[in-house]
Amino acid sequence: MDRLDCLVADSADPLAPRRAAFSLPDGVRYLDGNSLGALQRRVAERVQQVVELEWGHGLIRSWNDAGWIELPRRIAEQLAPLLGADADEIAVTDSTSANLFKALSAARGLCPDRRVVLTDDANFPTDLYVARGLAELDPRLEVRVVPTAEVADHLDDRVGVLTLTHVDYRTGRLHDAAALTRAAHEVGAVTVWDLSHSTGALDVDLEAWGADLAVGCTYKYLNGGPGSPSYLYVARRWHDQVSTPLRGWFGHARPFAFAVDYEPGPAASRFLDGTPPVLSMAALDTALGVFDGLGTEVLAAKAAALTQTFIDLVDERCGDAAQVVTPRDPQRRGAQVSLRHPQAEALCRALIARGVIGDHRPPDLVRFGFAPLYVRYIDVWDAVTDLAEVLNNGHWGPRTP
Ligand SMILES: *Cc1c(COP(=O)(O)O)cnc(C)c1O
Repeated sequence: MDRLDCLVADSADPLAPRRAAFSLPDGVRYLDGNSLGALQRRVAERVQQVVELEWGHGLIRSWNDAGWIELPRRIAEQLAPLLGADADEIAVTDSTSANLFKALSAARGLCPDRRVVLTDDANFPTDLYVARGLAELDPRLEVRVVPTAEVADHLDDRVGVLTLTHVDYRTGRLHDAAALTRAAHEVGAVTVWDLSHSTGALDVDLEAWGADLAVGCTYKYLNGGPGSPSYLYVARRWHDQVSTPLRGWFGHARPFAFAVDYEPGPAASRFLDGTPPVLSMAALDTALGVFDGLGTEVLAAKAAALTQTFIDLVDERCGDAAQVVTPRDPQRRGAQVSLRHPQAEALCRALIARGVIGDHRPPDLVRFGFAPLYVRYIDVWDAVTDLAEVLNNGHWGPRTP
């Protein structure tokens, strides 16, 4: 494979036209969309309009006149096809951490006689912290953290909730969500999936998986902007049975009746709680427009092809200088490739100085994310050229012109 092959692949890429929506700085190969998705021009314009016109001029009238009150529902409608869900199964609100707390608590309520919340030791730290915090409030609950490869072996009739992050944030390893959901159901447990590193880049299909609850963030592959609100999914079959520990007025059946007594809102809407963050919601609402009409399988296919190109080129051009830790089977990885290198942090800094933006995770991993909507094959080629320059030729400083 050479540079021309990458240009040819870009010209044949059905997603290539969508890149034009993004406002990426010149000279940057942005491979960190798994941490913070890129800005789109329309999003910048929308935020400016919301601030200056809707807030500045419309003031309180904009809750209705500008449709602020509709934002969580509008966003849920746009997320639905990316999740394989219906819009009323999705609540858009809060951070992923807060939604996970609510989802775990609700899942726990579905299996009140089971003591164990099962998860794996590769889970994202916030997920482990939140689960243990819930267990502290409920002394009968035990959070069991097991090695990733042994999760299925630990499913038994004491497990009430299986909670996992679909893509390992360090290695990019992908769980078989459908198989693990099935295995959990076989022992009578329910699942809570964290899709933060999946939605917008992979073939997520909660309905096909038979998933129970799920959460995920919107500022990674969904490009909602720093700190944009998260989502919580609850399958329709549980709507009559789930309850949330955070009962805010926005999750009430009639928030503007100002009733003294709580009555949960319909479907997933009960998981809303406080006033929606309108600036972030408006940014996310516009950001999701770029996915309009796209099937998740198209996103997944591009992610698989980009990550494969990166792995092949690293093998070919960097030799043994860095080790690919991400699974080589495209069915077993997310839209991310991680390399192990003893000086991961310095390597990451050297690459950023050359315009290749990835990130590092201690102690020794450098991560590269391949957002299918705006990363090109030529970016992959150029990034590996810089990587090889640093690793093989010891060029740890900025690129010389
Ligand atoms: C990014 C990420 C989060 C983010 O949580 P916030 O509370 O929204 O900051 C949570 N879980 C996983 C697995 C993530 O990758």
